[in-house]
Amino acid sequence: MQWSSGDRSNIEDERGRSGSRAVPLGIGGVIVLALLSWATGTNFLPSSGTQQSAPAGSVGTQGQVQSTPQEERMVDFVDAVANDVQGMWGQTLGDRYERTHIVLFRDSIESACGSAESATGPFYCPSDRKVYLDLGFFDELTRRFGAPGEFAKAYVIAHELGHHVQRLLGLDAGARRGAATGADSASVALELQADCLAGVWGHAASQSGRFKAGHVELEAGDAAQALRAAAAIGDDRLQKMTTGHVMPDRFTHGTSAQRVDSFRRGMDSGDLRACGAAARSTQ
Ligand SMILES: [Zn+2]
Repeated sequence: MQWSSGDRSNIEDERGRSGSRAVPLGIGGVIVLALLSWATGTNFLPSSGTQQSAPAGSVGTQGQVQSTPQEERMVDFVDAVANDVQGMWGQTLGDRYERTHIVLFRDSIESACGSAESATGPFYCPSDRKVYLDLGFFDELTRRFGAPGEFAKAYVIAHELGHHVQRLLGLDAGARRGAATGADSASVALELQADCLAGVWGHAASQSGRFKAGHVELEAGDAAQALRAAAAIGDDRLQKMTTGHVMPDRFTHGTSAQRVDSFRRGMDSGDLRACGAAARSTQ
C-alpha cells in the first residue's frame, strides 16, 4: 500500500486515558473467543439505555502515551486509511455521509455502548457512531491469524467504517430487531455487507494515480492480504480454533468463504448496490 501521514484528524487518541492492565485477560484463548465477536458492532455489547456520549474525547494525541515509533507509525496508518475511506464515502454519499472518528484505546475503554476490553476486538458503536480499536489487534491478526500486511489492517478499518455507513443509511435497522446470531441471522447479513462495503473502498483505492493525488493507493498483491484476513476470521475457522468444531447457530459474521465472497463482490464492482446497500437509504 502507498500512503502518507496526515494530521490524525480521524483519530481520537484515548491510549493515554484507557488502559488498566489489571484486567486479567488470561489465556490467549480469550482473545480468540473475542475475535469471534470481532466487529459485531451492533449486538455484542449490552446496549445502554442512555445515549450518554463517551468521555469528552478530544481529537488528537493527549495524555501520557508510552509508545514506540512503530506504534506511532501505525496510528498514522490508521488515520490515513480512515481518512481515505471516509473521503470515498463522502464522495459517494454526499450529504448523507457524516465523518466519524477511530477511537484508539489500550486494554479497556468505556464507550457509549458500554465498557469493552481489547479482547473484544475492534467494534463500531452505533450509539456514538464511532469505531473503537486497540492497535494490539493488528498483532493478533498478523501472528495468530496469519494475515499480515497493511491492507489486511485496512480491511478491518474499512469494515468497521462500513458499519458506520450502514448506520447512516439505516441499513442496520433489521439486524437490531432480529436474532443476534445464527448463519441466517440478519446480524450475519449485516457483517457480510460490511465486508462488501470494505471491498467497495478497496476497489476505489486500487485505481492507479491515487497516491500521486494524495490518496491511499493499493499495490499488486494487496487485495490478497485482505482476502486472507477475511478468510482467517470467518466464524467457522475461529470456532474450529476455539472449540474444535463448527456451530452455525452461533455464527455472527459468516463463514470464511462467505466473508471472502462478500469482500470480493465489493472489490470487483466498486458499487455499493452490489452490496445491497442502496435500497433502504434514508434519503
Ligand atoms: Zn463487523
